[in-house]
Amino acid sequence: MLLGLSKIIDCPGQSVSFSTEVDLRDLRFGACEPVKDPVLASGTVRNTAGVLMMKGMIQTRIYGVCDRCASDFERDIEIPIDVILVTELADEDNEDEWVFPLEGDSADLEDIVRTVFVLNLDSKLLCEPECKGLCCRCGKNLNHGPCNCQKELDPRFAALRQLLEK
Ligand SMILES: [Zn+2]
Ligand SMILES: [Zn+2]
Repeated sequence: MLLGLSKIIDCPGQSVSFSTEVDLRDLRFGACEPVKDPVLASGTVRNTAGVLMMKGMIQTRIYGVCDRCASDFERDIEIPIDVILVTELADEDNEDEWVFPLEGDSADLEDIVRTVFVLNLDSKLLCEPECKGLCCRCGKNLNHGPCNCQKELDPRFAALRQLLEK
């Protein structure tokens, strides 16, 4: 899945748009395989003052087990693509994971989408971004409401219990 860039590689100001489907069903995160549907990626590569900048969006549905509350979930996610394409990697000091080498004068879309997806997925493996998780004392799923431990911490209940204990 190569995106030809020969038309813009030497032409500052020019851009090429792309829209593709990538199959990432083989990805595994711990016990789960979060991707079951086609992964859509679209955007543009623009030659900005001689630098090839790829910007776009990756969209799919992920299926997993929430990192915080351990419940099964599925939800739609969007991950932005914001990377730089270079003709040659300056090998040793290429610490930057957002820089990708070209294959000749083409970009390997699948490789880029896969890498960006994997690097961003960790923070997405929640049933919802605001998941409240489990109570560390009683294990109750706090998305379903507060647990009794929290009530115990309420000073009014503490005062009441002191009265009852006397
Ligand atoms: Zn959760
Ligand atoms: Zn609790």
